[in-house]
Amino acid sequence: MEDAGPASFFQATTRAFGATIAGRWERPDLVAALCAQAFDSFEKNVTLQSEGAPAIACKGECAACCRLRVVATAPEIFLLARFVDANTQAFAARNVRLAERISDTAQAIGNLGEAERMAARRYCPLIENDLCLAYRLRPLACRGHAALDREACVSAAEGGGEEPAVSTPHLVVRSLVQNAMLNAVRQARLAWGLYELTQGLRIACGSSGLLDAWLRGGDPLAPATIPDFDLAEAASLFDAIAHA
Ligand code: SF4
Repeated sequence: MEDAGPASFFQATTRAFGATIAGRWERPDLVAALCAQAFDSFEKNVTLQSEGAPAIACKGECAACCRLRVVATAPEIFLLARFVDANTQAFAARNVRLAERISDTAQAIGNLGEAERMAARRYCPLIENDLCLAYRLRPLACRGHAALDREACVSAAEGGGEEPAVSTPHLVVRSLVQNAMLNAVRQARLAWGLYELTQGLRIACGSSGLLDAWLRGGDPLAPATIPDFDLAEAASLFDAIAHA
Protein backbone atom coordinates (compact mmCIF):
# COMPACT_ATOMS: atom_id res chain seq x y z
CA MET A 1 0.00 0.00 0.00
CA GLU A 2 3.05 2.27 0.41
CA ASP A 3 2.74 3.96 -2.96
CA ALA A 4 -0.73 2.92 -4.02
CA GLY A 5 -3.10 4.68 -1.60
CA PRO A 6 -6.08 3.09 0.14
CA ALA A 7 -8.46 2.87 -2.88
CA SER A 8 -5.86 1.24 -5.13
CA PHE A 9 -4.82 -1.10 -2.33
CA PHE A 10 -8.45 -2.10 -1.76
CA GLN A 11 -8.95 -2.77 -5.48
CA ALA A 12 -5.73 -4.77 -5.84
CA THR A 13 -6.41 -6.78 -2.68
CA THR A 14 -9.95 -7.54 -3.83
CA ARG A 15 -8.55 -8.82 -7.14
CA ALA A 16 -5.94 -10.92 -5.34
CA PHE A 17 -8.58 -12.55 -3.11
CA GLY A 18 -10.79 -13.06 -6.18
CA ALA A 19 -7.96 -14.88 -7.97
CA THR A 20 -7.49 -17.16 -4.97
CA ILE A 21 -11.20 -17.97 -4.83
CA ALA A 22 -11.33 -18.69 -8.57
CA GLY A 23 -8.11 -20.73 -8.57
CA ARG A 24 -8.93 -22.88 -5.53
CA TRP A 25 -12.71 -23.16 -5.80
CA GLU A 26 -12.80 -26.95 -5.70
CA ARG A 27 -9.79 -27.38 -3.43
CA PRO A 28 -9.99 -28.18 0.27
CA ASP A 29 -7.39 -25.53 1.08
CA LEU A 30 -9.46 -22.60 -0.25
CA VAL A 31 -10.34 -21.22 3.18
CA ALA A 32 -6.83 -21.67 4.56
CA ALA A 33 -5.32 -20.01 1.49
CA LEU A 34 -7.70 -17.04 1.64
CA CYS A 35 -7.02 -16.48 5.33
CA ALA A 36 -3.25 -16.89 4.94
CA GLN A 37 -3.38 -14.28 2.19
CA ALA A 38 -5.41 -11.93 4.39
CA PHE A 39 -3.17 -12.33 7.43
CA ASP A 40 -0.01 -11.95 5.35
CA SER A 41 -1.37 -8.82 3.67
CA PHE A 42 -2.37 -7.36 7.03
CA GLU A 43 0.98 -8.06 8.71
CA LYS A 44 3.09 -6.75 5.84
CA ASN A 45 1.07 -3.60 5.31
CA VAL A 46 0.60 -2.76 8.97
CA THR A 47 4.38 -2.93 9.38
CA LEU A 48 4.81 -0.53 6.46
CA GLN A 49 2.11 1.85 7.65
CA SER A 50 3.34 1.85 11.24
CA GLU A 51 6.73 3.30 10.36
CA GLY A 52 7.09 6.48 12.40
CA ALA A 53 3.79 5.90 14.23
CA PRO A 54 3.60 5.53 18.04
CA ALA A 55 4.71 2.08 19.24
CA ILE A 56 1.95 -0.29 20.27
CA ALA A 57 1.78 -1.58 23.84
CA CYS A 58 0.51 -5.11 23.03
CA LYS A 59 3.27 -7.62 23.72
CA GLY A 60 1.26 -10.84 23.96
CA GLU A 61 0.13 -12.75 27.06
CA CYS A 62 -2.62 -10.20 27.64
CA ALA A 63 -6.31 -10.94 27.30
CA ALA A 64 -7.64 -7.45 28.01
CA CYS A 65 -9.23 -6.98 24.58
CA CYS A 66 -10.46 -10.58 24.34
CA ARG A 67 -13.72 -9.53 25.97
CA LEU A 68 -14.61 -7.27 23.06
CA ARG A 69 -17.03 -8.39 20.39
CA VAL A 70 -15.06 -10.00 17.56
CA VAL A 71 -16.53 -9.87 14.07
CA ALA A 72 -15.14 -12.11 11.36
CA THR A 73 -15.67 -13.09 7.76
CA ALA A 74 -17.01 -16.52 6.83
CA PRO A 75 -13.59 -17.88 5.74
CA GLU A 76 -12.07 -16.85 9.07
CA ILE A 77 -14.81 -18.64 11.00
CA PHE A 78 -14.55 -21.80 8.88
CA LEU A 79 -10.78 -21.79 9.40
CA LEU A 80 -11.07 -21.47 13.19
CA ALA A 81 -13.85 -24.08 13.32
CA ARG A 82 -11.57 -26.51 11.49
CA PHE A 83 -8.82 -25.74 14.00
CA VAL A 84 -11.15 -26.34 16.96
CA ASP A 85 -12.47 -29.60 15.50
CA ALA A 86 -8.98 -30.86 14.68
CA ASN A 87 -7.66 -30.10 18.17
CA THR A 88 -10.63 -31.04 20.34
CA GLN A 89 -8.97 -34.12 21.81
CA ALA A 90 -5.59 -32.47 22.29
CA PHE A 91 -7.16 -29.60 24.21
CA ALA A 92 -9.41 -31.96 26.20
CA ALA A 93 -6.26 -33.77 27.33
CA ARG A 94 -5.24 -30.43 28.86
CA ASN A 95 -8.69 -30.09 30.41
CA VAL A 96 -9.73 -27.41 27.92
CA ARG A 97 -13.15 -28.34 26.59
CA LEU A 98 -13.41 -25.93 23.72
CA ALA A 99 -16.74 -27.03 22.27
CA GLU A 100 -18.41 -26.60 25.68
CA ARG A 101 -16.77 -23.23 26.19
CA ILE A 102 -17.91 -22.02 22.79
CA SER A 103 -21.43 -23.20 23.40
CA ASP A 104 -21.60 -21.70 26.91
CA THR A 105 -20.16 -18.37 25.81
CA ALA A 106 -22.42 -18.18 22.77
CA GLN A 107 -25.43 -18.78 24.98
CA ALA A 108 -24.29 -16.17 27.51
CA ILE A 109 -23.60 -13.37 25.03
CA GLY A 110 -26.37 -13.96 22.52
CA ASN A 111 -26.25 -11.23 19.88
CA LEU A 112 -25.05 -8.43 22.12
CA GLY A 113 -23.82 -5.21 20.54
CA GLU A 114 -20.30 -3.97 21.16
CA ALA A 115 -20.96 -2.03 24.37
CA GLU A 116 -23.15 -4.75 25.90
CA ARG A 117 -20.63 -7.41 24.93
CA MET A 118 -17.93 -5.54 26.81
CA ALA A 119 -20.21 -5.05 29.82
CA ALA A 120 -20.93 -8.80 29.91
CA ARG A 121 -17.22 -9.24 30.80
CA ARG A 122 -17.13 -12.61 29.14
CA TYR A 123 -13.88 -13.79 27.62
CA CYS A 124 -13.54 -15.22 24.14
CA PRO A 125 -13.70 -19.02 24.47
CA LEU A 126 -10.33 -19.29 22.74
CA ILE A 127 -8.41 -17.55 25.51
CA GLU A 128 -6.51 -19.70 28.01
CA ASN A 129 -4.16 -18.30 30.67
CA ASP A 130 -4.01 -14.99 28.79
CA LEU A 131 -2.94 -16.74 25.59
CA CYS A 132 -5.02 -17.15 22.45
CA LEU A 133 -5.21 -20.86 21.66
CA ALA A 134 -5.49 -20.01 17.97
CA TYR A 135 -3.09 -17.08 17.92
CA ARG A 136 -1.67 -17.72 14.43
CA LEU A 137 -5.20 -18.06 13.06
CA ARG A 138 -6.80 -15.19 14.98
CA PRO A 139 -9.12 -13.08 12.84
CA LEU A 140 -8.25 -9.73 11.29
CA ALA A 141 -10.43 -8.01 13.91
CA CYS A 142 -8.11 -9.24 16.67
CA ARG A 143 -4.98 -8.32 14.71
CA GLY A 144 -6.34 -4.84 14.05
CA HIS A 145 -6.96 -3.91 17.68
CA ALA A 146 -3.63 -2.70 19.08
CA ALA A 147 -3.47 -0.50 22.16
CA LEU A 148 -1.02 2.32 22.62
CA ASP A 149 -1.22 2.29 26.42
CA ARG A 150 -1.45 -1.07 28.15
CA GLU A 151 -2.65 0.27 31.51
CA ALA A 152 -5.40 2.33 29.88
CA CYS A 153 -6.45 -0.68 27.82
CA VAL A 154 -6.60 -3.00 30.85
CA SER A 155 -8.44 -0.34 32.86
CA ALA A 156 -11.04 0.13 30.11
CA ALA A 157 -11.49 -3.65 29.88
CA GLU A 158 -12.15 -3.70 33.63
CA GLY A 159 -14.89 -1.11 33.13
CA GLY A 160 -12.97 1.96 34.23
CA GLY A 161 -11.60 4.94 32.33
CA GLU A 162 -12.18 6.05 28.81
CA GLU A 163 -11.72 4.28 25.53
CA PRO A 164 -8.01 3.48 25.26
CA ALA A 165 -6.02 4.92 22.38
CA VAL A 166 -5.41 2.36 19.66
CA SER A 167 -3.11 2.23 16.65
CA THR A 168 -4.62 3.92 13.60
CA PRO A 169 -2.49 1.95 11.07
CA HIS A 170 -3.78 -1.31 12.57
CA LEU A 171 -7.40 -0.12 12.36
CA VAL A 172 -7.05 1.16 8.80
CA VAL A 173 -5.19 -1.85 7.39
CA ARG A 174 -7.54 -4.27 9.13
CA SER A 175 -10.53 -2.44 7.63
CA LEU A 176 -9.06 -2.40 4.12
CA VAL A 177 -8.04 -6.07 4.10
CA GLN A 178 -11.26 -7.27 5.76
CA ASN A 179 -13.42 -5.26 3.36
CA ALA A 180 -11.41 -6.44 0.35
CA MET A 181 -11.99 -10.02 1.50
CA LEU A 182 -15.72 -9.32 1.85
CA ASN A 183 -15.84 -7.70 -1.57
CA ALA A 184 -14.07 -10.62 -3.26
CA VAL A 185 -16.42 -13.08 -1.55
CA ARG A 186 -19.37 -10.96 -2.65
CA GLN A 187 -18.13 -10.84 -6.25
CA ALA A 188 -17.88 -14.65 -6.15
CA ARG A 189 -21.61 -14.63 -5.23
CA LEU A 190 -21.03 -16.17 -1.82
CA ALA A 191 -22.57 -15.03 1.46
CA TRP A 192 -20.35 -12.16 2.56
CA GLY A 193 -21.65 -10.72 5.83
CA LEU A 194 -19.77 -10.14 9.04
CA TYR A 195 -20.41 -12.65 11.80
CA GLU A 196 -19.93 -12.59 15.56
CA LEU A 197 -17.04 -14.96 16.18
CA THR A 198 -18.33 -17.08 19.07
CA GLN A 199 -21.80 -17.48 17.55
CA GLY A 200 -20.20 -18.39 14.24
CA LEU A 201 -17.99 -21.00 15.90
CA ARG A 202 -20.96 -22.46 17.75
CA ILE A 203 -22.65 -23.04 14.39
CA ALA A 204 -19.58 -24.18 12.44
CA CYS A 205 -17.71 -26.39 14.92
CA GLY A 206 -18.51 -30.07 14.56
CA SER A 207 -20.75 -29.39 11.55
CA SER A 208 -19.23 -30.97 8.49
CA GLY A 209 -20.82 -29.85 5.28
CA LEU A 210 -21.26 -26.22 6.31
CA LEU A 211 -18.39 -25.03 4.14
CA ASP A 212 -19.90 -26.86 1.16
CA ALA A 213 -23.24 -25.22 1.88
CA TRP A 214 -21.53 -21.83 1.86
CA LEU A 215 -19.73 -22.64 -1.41
CA ARG A 216 -23.07 -23.54 -2.95
CA GLY A 217 -24.30 -20.04 -2.19
CA GLY A 218 -26.00 -20.64 1.15
CA ASP A 219 -25.45 -18.64 4.32
CA PRO A 220 -25.19 -21.29 7.07
CA LEU A 221 -23.65 -18.74 9.46
CA ALA A 222 -26.64 -16.40 9.06
CA PRO A 223 -27.79 -16.68 12.72
CA ALA A 224 -24.40 -15.22 13.73
CA THR A 225 -24.73 -12.17 11.47
CA ILE A 226 -24.07 -8.94 13.32
CA PRO A 227 -27.05 -6.60 13.00
CA ASP A 228 -25.09 -3.37 12.62
CA PHE A 229 -23.30 -4.15 9.35
CA ASP A 230 -25.44 -2.90 6.47
CA LEU A 231 -24.76 -5.06 3.40
CA ALA A 232 -26.41 -2.65 0.93
CA GLU A 233 -24.45 0.29 2.26
CA ALA A 234 -21.20 -1.70 2.22
CA ALA A 235 -21.84 -2.94 -1.35
CA SER A 236 -22.46 0.59 -2.51
CA LEU A 237 -19.24 1.78 -0.84
CA PHE A 238 -17.22 -1.08 -2.34
CA ASP A 239 -18.58 -0.30 -5.83
CA ALA A 240 -17.81 3.40 -5.41
CA ILE A 241 -14.20 2.59 -4.42
CA ALA A 242 -13.88 0.14 -7.32
CA HIS A 243 -14.74 2.94 -9.75
CA ALA A 244 -12.72 5.64 -7.97
S1 SF4 B 1 -9.60 -15.17 18.78
FE1 SF4 B 1 -7.81 -15.09 20.16
S2 SF4 B 1 -7.07 -12.94 20.03
FE2 SF4 B 1 -9.19 -12.97 19.22
S3 SF4 B 1 -10.55 -12.46 20.95
FE3 SF4 B 1 -10.39 -14.74 20.85
S4 SF4 B 1 -8.69 -15.27 22.25
FE4 SF4 B 1 -8.51 -13.06 21.80
